[in-house]
Amino acid sequence: MRLPQLANFIAGQWSTPTTGRWLTVFEPATGLAYAEVADSGAADIAAAVSAATAASPAWQALTHAERADWLTALAAAIEADLCGFAATESQDTGKPLWLTNTIEIPRAIRNFRFFAAAASQFASESHHDAGLLNYTLRAPLGVVGCISPWNLPLYLLSWKIAPALAAGNCVVAKPSEITPLSAHRLSETLLRIGFPPGVLNIVHGHGAVAGKALVEHPKVKAISFTGSTAVGKQIAGHCGPALKKVSLELGGKNPVLVFADAPREQLIATLLRSAFQNAGQICLCGSRLLIERSAYAEVRDALVAGAKALTVGDPQCADTRIGALTSAAHFNKVMACIDRARQDGGQILCGGVALHPSGRCAEGWFILPTIIDGLPADCRTHHEEIFGPVVSLQAFDSDAEALALANDCDYGLAAQIWTSNLQRAHRLAAAIDCGIVWINGWMQRDLRTPFGGVKQSGLGREGGVEAMRFFTETKNICLPLA
Ligand code: NAD
Repeated sequence: MRLPQLANFIAGQWSTPTTGRWLTVFEPATGLAYAEVADSGAADIAAAVSAATAASPAWQALTHAERADWLTALAAAIEADLCGFAATESQDTGKPLWLTNTIEIPRAIRNFRFFAAAASQFASESHHDAGLLNYTLRAPLGVVGCISPWNLPLYLLSWKIAPALAAGNCVVAKPSEITPLSAHRLSETLLRIGFPPGVLNIVHGHGAVAGKALVEHPKVKAISFTGSTAVGKQIAGHCGPALKKVSLELGGKNPVLVFADAPREQLIATLLRSAFQNAGQICLCGSRLLIERSAYAEVRDALVAGAKALTVGDPQCADTRIGALTSAAHFNKVMACIDRARQDGGQILCGGVALHPSGRCAEGWFILPTIIDGLPADCRTHHEEIFGPVVSLQAFDSDAEALALANDCDYGLAAQIWTSNLQRAHRLAAAIDCGIVWINGWMQRDLRTPFGGVKQSGLGREGGVEAMRFFTETKNICLPLA
């Protein structure tokens, strides 16, 4: 049987890839192929950039309120199709349907609504002095490129395209070739609501071909990228010499500092969520658990008991907490990381093996939630991003040691601090090298706050006014008043 083909969406129309090639898309929960997606080349990117360039004057000529109306209409159309989007995203990624239905697609809708409002709230500054008036214009850049990963497909794609459009840019988006289905459904939605043609173009394909062509296209004024540190560096390597604006949201290996005086009420449930939600495939997951020695045994045992109780399996079942890993290649990578931890002397306290559920998911890419301790401090498990349902434990004896362990990592995206001592919490929050800290919590998000990391976790910030600034060019105008 012929698989459905997911074409590009350029200038408001479906467009088959000029290469004539298609990539196979797999359902992670079953391991079966279920669609083909355009394997686009540089010519497809060039067509999308031309369409975006042609659409730019009219889109820029709209008022903020008119652009906000379009984003609001798009949000409403996605909301009206929430069940469809949620099913699509779950099938494509292997994550539980309840997760896409209650958290991820609603968040994508919120991204569009949030930046629709931001468009009308984004104000220019002015600076007054004796005899001098300065005011600052923030103009759209023109055509921008948005490149997103497979772990939160629509959620992260919308987190980029919404501010880009709200700020008055036209967009060429390149979603992950591994999970293209929700971006395809977004294209269908754009067509259905009559979104202005060329303003948002979606081109599928390999990162090393289509993504690279988008980054290198001379008419693309900025690249907003979320993905691996290795690819982020390649993109920076092009954008630097080309003096192209770039925002990079990259990998993480986030420490979780648990002190003996941590409030217990939400502790274990939150640590389990932060370790294993979306099978650990969230850049913000807490994968290095640093636990004060006097509470180590208690917290470890509670975590292991909790992890063993998590239901792993069919994403369509309501009681499934952990679904499949999103690709066979990634499943193999995570299994290899677990083997390496074993060879390094790690003790697998739970999990550590693949799961083959009975029934339709028998060939899916499932791994049981895995907790490892007993590893040497310098092992790769403690330092490298695994991006799967795998966490490692370490004990510490003092605040200073906890801080040293937290900072002993090339990444610097997020951290959690669990303690009842607020002075300690604030002192450590300021001292940990990262972009985001949660105190006694995880994943609470206010979309106005800056989002991003330091060290190998990225460059620049997304969210709120930071995103609106990234997607605009600043011009200061000075007027002597006498
Ligand atoms: P990836 O870097 O392999 O791919 C990300 C995107 O970049 C995909 O669309 C891919 O096709 C494209 N791409 C690949 N090579 C390219 C190139 N040479 N030029 C241009 N585009 C290219 O990452 P992934 O495996 O899809 O995602 C997982 C990674 O993303 C993890 O490291 C994770 O930590 C990171 N991530 C970071 C954040 C954050 O906000 N910091 C959020 C989610 C995921």
